[in-house]
Amino acid sequence: MMVATAEAVAQRFGPEYWREHDESEAYPEAFIAALGEHGFFGVTVPEALGGSGQGLSELVLVMEALCRCGGGGGPALGYLFGLLGTMTLAHAAKSERQLGDLRALAAGEKLCAFALSEPDAGTNSFNISTAAIEREDDFVINGAKWFITNLQHSQRLLLVSQTRRLGSDESCGLSLFLVDLPNAALTFTPTPKHGFNYYKSNQLFIDNLVVPKSALVGELGKGFASLAPTLNAERLLVAAGAVGTARLALQAAVGYAKERKVFKAPIGSHQAIQHPLAAAHANLEAAWLMIAEAAALDDAGTSPERAAGMANMAKYVAVEAAIEACYQSLQTYGGAGYAREYHQERWWREVQLFRLAPLTQQMTLNFIGQHVLGMPKSY
Ligand SMILES: Cc1cc2nc3c(=O)[nH]c(=O)nc-3n(C[C@H](O)[C@H](O)[C@H](O)COP(=O)(O)OP(=O)(O)OC[C@H]3O[C@@H](n4cnc5c(N)ncnc54)[C@H](O)[C@@H]3O)c2cc1C
Repeated sequence: MMVATAEAVAQRFGPEYWREHDESEAYPEAFIAALGEHGFFGVTVPEALGGSGQGLSELVLVMEALCRCGGGGGPALGYLFGLLGTMTLAHAAKSERQLGDLRALAAGEKLCAFALSEPDAGTNSFNISTAAIEREDDFVINGAKWFITNLQHSQRLLLVSQTRRLGSDESCGLSLFLVDLPNAALTFTPTPKHGFNYYKSNQLFIDNLVVPKSALVGELGKGFASLAPTLNAERLLVAAGAVGTARLALQAAVGYAKERKVFKAPIGSHQAIQHPLAAAHANLEAAWLMIAEAAALDDAGTSPERAAGMANMAKYVAVEAAIEACYQSLQTYGGAGYAREYHQERWWREVQLFRLAPLTQQMTLNFIGQHVLGMPKSY
Protein backbone atom coordinates (compact mmCIF):
# COMPACT_ATOMS: atom_id res chain seq x y z
CA MET A 1 0.00 0.00 0.00
CA MET A 2 2.81 2.35 0.85
CA VAL A 3 4.51 1.79 -2.49
CA ALA A 4 1.22 2.24 -4.37
CA THR A 5 0.66 5.53 -2.51
CA ALA A 6 4.24 6.67 -3.20
CA GLU A 7 3.76 5.87 -6.89
CA ALA A 8 0.50 7.82 -6.99
CA VAL A 9 2.06 10.83 -5.23
CA ALA A 10 5.05 10.79 -7.59
CA GLN A 11 2.75 10.65 -10.61
CA ARG A 12 0.91 13.75 -9.39
CA PHE A 13 4.27 15.58 -9.43
CA GLY A 14 5.70 14.40 -12.73
CA PRO A 15 8.79 15.47 -14.68
CA GLU A 16 7.24 18.76 -15.82
CA TYR A 17 6.71 19.82 -12.20
CA TRP A 18 10.40 19.24 -11.47
CA ARG A 19 11.56 20.91 -14.69
CA GLU A 20 9.63 24.04 -13.75
CA HIS A 21 11.08 24.05 -10.24
CA ASP A 22 14.56 23.44 -11.63
CA GLU A 23 14.18 26.52 -13.85
CA SER A 24 12.48 28.80 -11.33
CA GLU A 25 14.55 27.47 -8.40
CA ALA A 26 11.33 27.52 -6.36
CA TYR A 27 11.00 25.14 -3.42
CA PRO A 28 8.69 22.18 -4.26
CA GLU A 29 6.34 23.04 -1.44
CA ALA A 30 3.29 21.09 -2.64
CA PHE A 31 5.33 17.92 -3.14
CA ILE A 32 6.95 18.07 0.31
CA ALA A 33 3.53 18.78 1.85
CA ALA A 34 2.15 15.69 0.07
CA LEU A 35 4.98 13.58 1.53
CA GLY A 36 4.02 14.82 4.99
CA GLU A 37 0.27 14.29 4.47
CA HIS A 38 0.87 10.66 3.52
CA GLY A 39 3.10 10.04 6.53
CA PHE A 40 6.24 9.41 4.49
CA PHE A 41 8.46 11.25 6.97
CA GLY A 42 7.37 8.78 9.63
CA VAL A 43 7.85 5.45 7.83
CA THR A 44 10.44 4.18 10.33
CA VAL A 45 9.24 6.17 13.36
CA PRO A 46 7.57 3.88 15.94
CA GLU A 47 3.77 3.78 15.83
CA ALA A 48 3.58 5.00 19.45
CA LEU A 49 5.26 8.21 18.25
CA GLY A 50 2.94 8.75 15.32
CA GLY A 51 4.92 6.90 12.66
CA SER A 52 4.26 3.70 10.72
CA GLY A 53 6.80 1.57 12.61
CA GLN A 54 8.24 0.08 9.43
CA GLY A 55 11.83 -0.78 8.62
CA LEU A 56 14.47 0.23 6.12
CA SER A 57 13.10 -2.33 3.66
CA GLU A 58 9.88 -0.33 3.37
CA LEU A 59 11.65 3.03 3.41
CA VAL A 60 13.86 2.24 0.39
CA LEU A 61 10.80 1.04 -1.53
CA VAL A 62 9.11 4.39 -0.91
CA MET A 63 12.20 6.37 -1.96
CA GLU A 64 12.68 4.31 -5.14
CA ALA A 65 9.01 4.66 -6.10
CA LEU A 66 8.98 8.43 -5.57
CA CYS A 67 11.98 8.86 -7.87
CA ARG A 68 11.02 6.23 -10.50
CA CYS A 69 7.44 7.41 -11.00
CA GLY A 70 8.21 10.92 -12.17
CA GLY A 71 10.35 12.66 -9.58
CA GLY A 72 13.81 11.70 -10.77
CA GLY A 73 16.33 13.14 -8.32
CA GLY A 74 13.79 15.70 -7.10
CA PRO A 75 12.29 13.67 -4.26
CA ALA A 76 15.60 12.09 -3.30
CA LEU A 77 17.44 15.07 -1.85
CA GLY A 78 14.47 16.72 -0.11
CA TYR A 79 13.22 13.46 1.36
CA LEU A 80 16.69 12.29 2.42
CA PHE A 81 17.71 15.47 4.25
CA GLY A 82 14.24 15.72 5.80
CA LEU A 83 14.62 12.19 7.15
CA LEU A 84 18.12 12.39 8.66
CA GLY A 85 17.13 14.58 11.61
CA THR A 86 13.84 12.76 12.11
CA MET A 87 15.43 9.30 12.11
CA THR A 88 18.15 10.40 14.53
CA LEU A 89 15.52 11.79 16.90
CA ALA A 90 13.57 8.53 16.65
CA HIS A 91 16.59 6.80 18.24
CA ALA A 92 17.85 9.52 20.54
CA ALA A 93 14.96 11.78 21.63
CA LYS A 94 14.05 11.29 25.29
CA SER A 95 12.44 14.45 26.70
CA GLU A 96 8.72 15.16 26.23
CA ARG A 97 9.56 18.23 24.17
CA GLN A 98 11.78 16.30 21.76
CA LEU A 99 9.27 13.46 21.52
CA GLY A 100 6.59 16.05 20.75
CA ASP A 101 8.77 17.45 17.98
CA LEU A 102 9.32 13.96 16.65
CA ARG A 103 5.55 13.39 16.45
CA ALA A 104 5.17 16.64 14.50
CA LEU A 105 8.02 15.65 12.17
CA ALA A 106 6.60 12.16 11.57
CA ALA A 107 3.24 13.74 10.73
CA GLY A 108 4.88 16.16 8.32
CA GLU A 109 3.71 19.18 10.34
CA LYS A 110 7.32 20.26 10.84
CA LEU A 111 10.56 19.69 8.94
CA CYS A 112 13.99 19.21 10.46
CA ALA A 113 17.19 20.24 8.64
CA PHE A 114 20.50 18.61 9.49
CA ALA A 115 23.77 20.55 10.01
CA LEU A 116 27.02 18.63 10.19
CA SER A 117 29.29 19.73 7.31
CA GLU A 118 31.69 22.65 7.64
CA PRO A 119 34.16 24.21 5.23
CA ASP A 120 36.99 22.28 6.92
CA ALA A 121 35.01 19.21 7.87
CA GLY A 122 32.92 17.28 5.36
CA THR A 123 34.35 13.82 4.89
CA ASN A 124 36.24 14.14 8.16
CA SER A 125 33.31 15.14 10.31
CA PHE A 126 35.28 14.70 13.55
CA ASN A 127 37.18 17.84 12.52
CA ILE A 128 34.26 20.24 12.97
CA SER A 129 35.05 23.42 14.84
CA THR A 130 31.56 24.68 15.70
CA ALA A 131 31.63 24.64 19.49
CA ALA A 132 29.01 24.57 22.22
CA ILE A 133 30.18 25.82 25.61
CA GLU A 134 28.24 24.27 28.47
CA ARG A 135 27.22 26.84 31.12
CA GLU A 136 25.23 26.39 34.29
CA ASP A 137 21.75 26.51 32.70
CA ASP A 138 22.36 26.43 28.98
CA PHE A 139 24.79 26.09 26.07
CA VAL A 140 26.17 28.89 23.91
CA ILE A 141 27.13 27.84 20.39
CA ASN A 142 29.34 29.56 17.81
CA GLY A 143 30.62 28.41 14.45
CA ALA A 144 29.87 28.05 10.75
CA LYS A 145 28.47 25.29 8.55
CA TRP A 146 28.06 24.91 4.81
CA PHE A 147 25.74 23.19 2.35
CA ILE A 148 22.99 22.99 4.97
CA THR A 149 19.91 22.15 2.94
CA ASN A 150 16.37 23.50 3.33
CA LEU A 151 16.94 25.79 6.31
CA GLN A 152 14.47 28.21 4.65
CA HIS A 153 11.63 25.70 5.00
CA SER A 154 12.46 23.90 8.24
CA GLN A 155 11.15 24.59 11.73
CA ARG A 156 13.84 22.56 13.49
CA LEU A 157 17.56 22.06 12.97
CA LEU A 158 19.59 19.14 14.26
CA LEU A 159 22.98 20.75 14.83
CA VAL A 160 26.22 18.81 15.37
CA SER A 161 28.77 20.62 17.49
CA GLN A 162 31.93 20.10 19.53
CA THR A 163 31.21 20.50 23.23
CA ARG A 164 33.34 22.16 25.89
CA ARG A 165 32.80 22.96 29.50
CA LEU A 166 33.01 26.63 30.53
CA GLY A 167 36.64 27.61 31.09
CA SER A 168 38.07 24.52 29.39
CA ASP A 169 39.71 24.35 25.94
CA GLU A 170 39.33 20.62 25.74
CA SER A 171 36.49 19.15 23.68
CA CYS A 172 34.44 16.54 25.46
CA GLY A 173 33.25 15.23 22.09
CA LEU A 174 30.54 15.94 19.56
CA SER A 175 26.99 16.57 20.71
CA LEU A 176 23.65 17.04 18.94
CA PHE A 177 21.31 19.95 19.59
CA LEU A 178 17.74 20.42 18.47
CA VAL A 179 17.29 24.09 17.61
CA ASP A 180 14.12 26.02 16.75
CA LEU A 181 14.03 27.81 13.40
CA PRO A 182 13.98 30.65 12.54
CA ASN A 183 16.46 31.91 15.11
CA ALA A 184 18.04 35.37 15.29
CA ALA A 185 21.45 33.84 16.11
CA LEU A 186 21.45 31.89 12.84
CA THR A 187 22.01 33.61 9.51
CA PHE A 188 22.40 31.85 6.20
CA THR A 189 22.90 32.43 2.50
CA PRO A 190 22.33 29.90 -0.28
CA THR A 191 25.21 28.54 -2.34
CA PRO A 192 24.26 28.35 -6.06
CA LYS A 193 24.99 24.84 -7.31
CA HIS A 194 25.08 22.55 -10.39
CA GLY A 195 21.61 21.11 -9.77
CA PHE A 196 18.88 20.89 -7.14
CA ASN A 197 18.66 24.67 -6.76
CA TYR A 198 15.01 24.26 -5.79
CA TYR A 199 16.43 23.06 -2.47
CA LYS A 200 18.68 25.80 -1.14
CA SER A 201 21.93 24.58 0.39
CA ASN A 202 23.28 27.27 2.68
CA GLN A 203 26.30 28.70 4.34
CA LEU A 204 25.20 28.97 7.94
CA PHE A 205 26.69 31.32 10.53
CA ILE A 206 26.04 30.60 14.19
CA ASP A 207 26.60 33.65 16.34
CA ASN A 208 26.13 33.21 20.10
CA LEU A 209 23.24 30.81 19.80
CA VAL A 210 21.93 30.13 23.31
CA VAL A 211 19.98 26.90 23.76
CA PRO A 212 18.59 25.37 26.98
CA LYS A 213 20.04 22.14 28.37
CA SER A 214 16.89 20.42 27.11
CA ALA A 215 18.01 21.06 23.51
CA LEU A 216 20.73 18.42 23.89
CA VAL A 217 19.76 15.26 21.95
CA GLY A 218 21.20 12.02 23.33
CA GLU A 219 24.20 12.17 25.62
CA LEU A 220 26.70 14.99 25.96
CA GLY A 221 29.82 14.26 23.89
CA LYS A 222 28.28 11.14 22.34
CA GLY A 223 26.69 12.70 19.26
CA PHE A 224 28.14 10.12 16.90
CA ALA A 225 26.64 7.28 18.89
CA SER A 226 23.25 8.93 18.34
CA LEU A 227 23.90 9.33 14.61
CA ALA A 228 25.21 5.77 14.14
CA PRO A 229 21.81 4.04 13.81
CA THR A 230 21.00 6.19 10.77
CA LEU A 231 24.24 5.60 8.84
CA ASN A 232 23.01 2.54 6.93
CA ALA A 233 19.72 4.30 6.22
CA GLU A 234 21.52 7.31 4.77
CA ARG A 235 23.53 5.11 2.38
CA LEU A 236 20.53 3.04 1.31
CA LEU A 237 18.25 6.03 0.80
CA VAL A 238 20.82 7.56 -1.54
CA ALA A 239 21.17 4.22 -3.34
CA ALA A 240 17.40 3.78 -3.72
CA GLY A 241 16.97 7.38 -4.91
CA ALA A 242 19.73 6.90 -7.48
CA VAL A 243 18.21 3.64 -8.78
CA GLY A 244 14.72 5.19 -8.97
CA THR A 245 16.07 8.21 -10.86
CA ALA A 246 18.00 6.01 -13.28
CA ARG A 247 15.03 3.72 -13.88
CA LEU A 248 12.95 6.75 -14.83
CA ALA A 249 15.66 8.00 -17.21
CA LEU A 250 16.11 4.54 -18.72
CA GLN A 251 12.39 3.98 -19.22
CA ALA A 252 12.16 7.27 -21.12
CA ALA A 253 15.24 6.39 -23.21
CA VAL A 254 13.86 2.97 -24.15
CA GLY A 255 10.62 4.61 -25.30
CA TYR A 256 12.58 7.17 -27.32
CA ALA A 257 14.84 4.47 -28.84
CA LYS A 258 11.80 2.56 -30.06
CA GLU A 259 10.22 5.60 -31.70
CA ARG A 260 13.03 7.77 -32.97
CA LYS A 261 13.92 6.85 -36.55
CA VAL A 262 17.25 7.78 -38.09
CA PHE A 263 18.40 6.12 -41.34
CA LYS A 264 14.84 4.71 -41.64
CA ALA A 265 15.10 2.36 -38.62
CA PRO A 266 14.34 3.04 -34.94
CA ILE A 267 17.63 3.85 -33.23
CA GLY A 268 16.84 1.12 -30.68
CA SER A 269 17.32 -1.48 -33.40
CA HIS A 270 21.06 -0.68 -33.44
CA GLN A 271 23.13 -2.56 -30.89
CA ALA A 272 25.20 0.57 -30.24
CA ILE A 273 22.06 2.03 -28.66
CA GLN A 274 20.40 -1.15 -27.40
CA HIS A 275 23.31 -2.83 -25.62
CA PRO A 276 24.28 0.07 -23.33
CA LEU A 277 20.63 0.40 -22.27
CA ALA A 278 20.34 -3.35 -21.70
CA ALA A 279 23.57 -3.38 -19.68
CA ALA A 280 22.39 -0.36 -17.66
CA HIS A 281 19.13 -2.15 -16.88
CA ALA A 282 20.94 -5.31 -15.75
CA ASN A 283 23.27 -3.31 -13.50
CA LEU A 284 20.37 -1.39 -11.93
CA GLU A 285 18.58 -4.67 -11.18
CA ALA A 286 21.73 -6.04 -9.53
CA ALA A 287 22.10 -2.87 -7.48
CA TRP A 288 18.46 -3.05 -6.43
CA LEU A 289 18.94 -6.61 -5.13
CA MET A 290 21.92 -5.41 -3.07
CA ILE A 291 19.85 -2.56 -1.62
CA ALA A 292 17.05 -4.96 -0.67
CA GLU A 293 19.54 -7.37 0.91
CA ALA A 294 21.27 -4.60 2.85
CA ALA A 295 17.95 -3.20 4.10
CA ALA A 296 16.78 -6.67 5.17
CA LEU A 297 20.07 -7.24 7.04
CA ASP A 298 19.71 -3.91 8.81
CA ASP A 299 16.09 -4.64 9.74
CA ALA A 300 16.98 -8.11 11.06
CA GLY A 301 19.62 -6.58 13.33
CA THR A 302 21.41 -9.91 13.73
CA SER A 303 24.67 -8.99 12.03
CA PRO A 304 25.51 -5.28 12.27
CA GLU A 305 28.91 -5.75 10.56
CA ARG A 306 27.41 -7.49 7.53
CA ALA A 307 24.59 -4.94 7.38
CA ALA A 308 27.03 -2.01 7.39
CA GLY A 309 29.29 -3.66 4.78
CA MET A 310 26.34 -4.42 2.53
CA ALA A 311 24.92 -0.89 2.91
CA ASN A 312 28.22 0.65 1.80
CA MET A 313 28.60 -1.80 -1.10
CA ALA A 314 25.01 -1.24 -2.21
CA LYS A 315 25.47 2.54 -2.11
CA TYR A 316 28.67 2.33 -4.16
CA VAL A 317 27.29 -0.06 -6.78
CA ALA A 318 23.89 1.65 -7.06
CA VAL A 319 25.31 5.12 -7.58
CA GLU A 320 27.79 3.96 -10.24
CA ALA A 321 25.05 1.96 -12.00
CA ALA A 322 22.67 4.92 -11.84
CA ILE A 323 25.17 7.41 -13.21
CA GLU A 324 26.02 5.10 -16.13
CA ALA A 325 22.31 4.49 -16.82
CA CYS A 326 21.55 8.23 -16.83
CA TYR A 327 24.53 8.87 -19.08
CA GLN A 328 23.46 6.19 -21.60
CA SER A 329 19.87 7.46 -21.48
CA LEU A 330 20.98 11.00 -22.26
CA GLN A 331 23.21 9.73 -25.08
CA THR A 332 20.25 7.84 -26.58
CA TYR A 333 18.47 11.16 -27.06
CA GLY A 334 21.36 12.66 -29.03
CA GLY A 335 21.19 16.46 -29.01
CA ALA A 336 17.71 16.35 -27.52
CA GLY A 337 19.25 14.82 -24.41
CA TYR A 338 20.98 18.14 -23.82
CA ALA A 339 17.71 20.10 -24.06
CA ARG A 340 15.85 20.86 -20.85
CA GLU A 341 12.56 19.87 -22.47
CA TYR A 342 13.44 16.16 -22.35
CA HIS A 343 14.54 15.98 -18.68
CA GLN A 344 17.55 13.76 -19.34
CA GLU A 345 20.06 16.54 -18.74
CA ARG A 346 18.45 17.30 -15.35
CA TRP A 347 18.43 13.69 -14.18
CA TRP A 348 22.07 13.43 -15.29
CA ARG A 349 22.97 16.56 -13.29
CA GLU A 350 21.06 15.36 -10.26
CA VAL A 351 22.34 11.82 -10.10
CA GLN A 352 25.96 13.06 -10.02
CA LEU A 353 25.36 14.46 -6.56
CA PHE A 354 25.07 11.00 -5.07
CA ARG A 355 28.76 10.37 -5.75
CA LEU A 356 29.51 13.38 -3.52
CA ALA A 357 26.87 13.76 -0.84
CA PRO A 358 25.91 13.00 1.77
CA LEU A 359 28.77 10.49 1.59
CA THR A 360 31.41 10.32 -1.15
CA GLN A 361 32.09 7.13 -3.09
CA GLN A 362 35.69 7.16 -1.81
CA MET A 363 34.46 6.87 1.76
CA THR A 364 32.31 3.85 0.89
CA LEU A 365 35.43 2.27 -0.68
CA ASN A 366 37.45 3.12 2.44
CA PHE A 367 34.81 1.33 4.49
CA ILE A 368 34.68 -1.72 2.21
CA GLY A 369 38.50 -1.96 2.08
CA GLN A 370 38.86 -1.77 5.84
CA HIS A 371 35.76 -3.44 7.26
CA VAL A 372 34.73 -5.92 4.57
CA LEU A 373 38.15 -6.89 3.18
CA GLY A 374 40.07 -6.41 6.41
CA MET A 375 42.80 -4.19 4.97
CA PRO A 376 44.54 -1.51 7.07
CA LYS A 377 42.68 1.75 7.63
CA SER A 378 43.70 3.95 4.69
CA TYR A 379 42.78 7.37 6.04
C1 LIG B 1 23.84 19.56 -2.67
C2 LIG B 1 24.46 19.26 -1.34
C3 LIG B 1 23.65 19.23 -0.21
C4 LIG B 1 24.21 19.00 1.04
N1 LIG B 1 23.42 19.07 2.16
C5 LIG B 1 23.97 18.93 3.39
C6 LIG B 1 23.18 19.10 4.58
O1 LIG B 1 21.97 19.36 4.53
N2 LIG B 1 23.79 18.95 5.79
C7 LIG B 1 25.12 18.67 5.91
O2 LIG B 1 25.61 18.55 7.03
N3 LIG B 1 25.91 18.52 4.79
C8 LIG B 1 25.37 18.66 3.55
N4 LIG B 1 26.16 18.53 2.42
C9 LIG B 1 27.60 18.34 2.57
C10 LIG B 1 28.06 16.92 2.18
O3 LIG B 1 27.66 16.01 3.17
C11 LIG B 1 29.60 16.98 1.98
O4 LIG B 1 29.82 17.75 0.80
C12 LIG B 1 30.20 15.61 1.83
O5 LIG B 1 30.18 14.94 3.06
C13 LIG B 1 31.67 15.66 1.35
O6 LIG B 1 32.41 16.53 2.14
P1 LIG B 1 33.27 17.73 1.48
O7 LIG B 1 32.45 18.34 0.42
O8 LIG B 1 33.78 18.60 2.56
O9 LIG B 1 34.49 16.98 0.76
P2 LIG B 1 35.98 16.86 1.35
O10 LIG B 1 35.93 16.28 2.71
O11 LIG B 1 36.69 18.16 1.18
O12 LIG B 1 36.61 15.79 0.37
C14 LIG B 1 37.06 16.17 -0.95
C15 LIG B 1 37.32 14.90 -1.75
O13 LIG B 1 38.41 14.16 -1.16
C16 LIG B 1 37.98 12.83 -0.91
N5 LIG B 1 38.65 12.34 0.30
C17 LIG B 1 38.87 13.05 1.45
N6 LIG B 1 39.53 12.27 2.34
C18 LIG B 1 39.70 11.05 1.75
C19 LIG B 1 40.30 9.83 2.15
N7 LIG B 1 40.86 9.68 3.34
N8 LIG B 1 40.27 8.79 1.29
C20 LIG B 1 39.72 8.92 0.06
N9 LIG B 1 39.15 10.07 -0.38
C21 LIG B 1 39.13 11.10 0.44
C22 LIG B 1 36.48 12.91 -0.71
O14 LIG B 1 35.86 11.66 -0.95
C23 LIG B 1 36.11 13.96 -1.76
O15 LIG B 1 35.99 13.37 -3.04
C24 LIG B 1 25.60 18.74 1.16
C25 LIG B 1 26.41 18.75 0.00
C26 LIG B 1 25.86 19.01 -1.22
C27 LIG B 1 26.77 19.05 -2.43
